[in-house]
Amino acid sequence: MKSALRSLLLSSILLLAYLPSYCWGFYAHQKINYYAVFLLPPEMMLLYKPNINFISEHAIDPDKRRYGVPDEGPRHYIDIDHYGKYPYEALPHKWTEAVAKFTEDSLKAHGIVPWHVQTMLGRLTAAFKEKNFSRIMKNSAEIGHYIADAHVPLHASSNHNGQLTNQKGIHGFWESRVPELLAEKEFDFFIGKAIYIKEPGDFIWDRVLESGKAADSVLTFERELSKSFSEDQKYSFEERNGKVIRQYSSAFTIAFNKKLDGMIERRMRQSIFCIASFWFTAWVNAGQPDLKSLVKQQFSEAEIKEFDNLNQSWKATEKMIGRQEE
Ligand SMILES: [Zn+2]
Repeated sequence: MKSALRSLLLSSILLLAYLPSYCWGFYAHQKINYYAVFLLPPEMMLLYKPNINFISEHAIDPDKRRYGVPDEGPRHYIDIDHYGKYPYEALPHKWTEAVAKFTEDSLKAHGIVPWHVQTMLGRLTAAFKEKNFSRIMKNSAEIGHYIADAHVPLHASSNHNGQLTNQKGIHGFWESRVPELLAEKEFDFFIGKAIYIKEPGDFIWDRVLESGKAADSVLTFERELSKSFSEDQKYSFEERNGKVIRQYSSAFTIAFNKKLDGMIERRMRQSIFCIASFWFTAWVNAGQPDLKSLVKQQFSEAEIKEFDNLNQSWKATEKMIGRQEE
């Protein structure tokens, strides 16, 4: 009976677990932006600390926009294996050279995250120069998102959800399930200080190349580990919001994290360090403006309404497709 129930569950509701999940889960994105604030120098901390909840909560706005804005999707990843083998020398790192070689449409079709991070850095630098409170906040929160995505190995692989190797679900497993289970208890987010990045383009490309290189291990290790776990041991069933969902069991999650030898914690830490350093670099390149006068500023009613609209439309779409993040 138990197995009959299980197969019924599998055939009816559990497709949910296989819907594509993008990017670090919401949990990890918000944590990453949150911890990045603590790496800033006092001149920046005085503005970021009182707004830490905004910076954290709005880390996920780019994901919320993905349904409504067609151009949004490619900003979160790059199928770097499309360009050959590591270190993917066929692909120029400079946008203009890459466009000349592959065309913009083709680049967008395979993702543009390393370039979009640089676009965002330009926007944040401009916001600092203008001393524009809301643009500083919004662009800080959002560049954090794209930088964190660039650190995820499966965001730099065309096999992004294991769909080519019968490992569907591995995307959310690596970036959501593991951090949600282990980050709070076991990961260390004490990281030190942000640095000034002289060559932001090279810096973010190095992170993307690391991600591309690590993608193979992520896939291989999950495949290997699966051999020593039965289906029953590999997955567990949990009720969430009145729905039964299938997820990777705690035992399998812990074993996977161990086999990766701290990779997920390392990538989270590197994301945090990179984000704070990009914020700091933008501020320095803008001439280190005094941010004191911005501390008391708040978002206008129109801006708050805009955030609200984004939320509403995202929730409506999630509901429509039957998926709702808490
Ligand atoms: Zn994303």
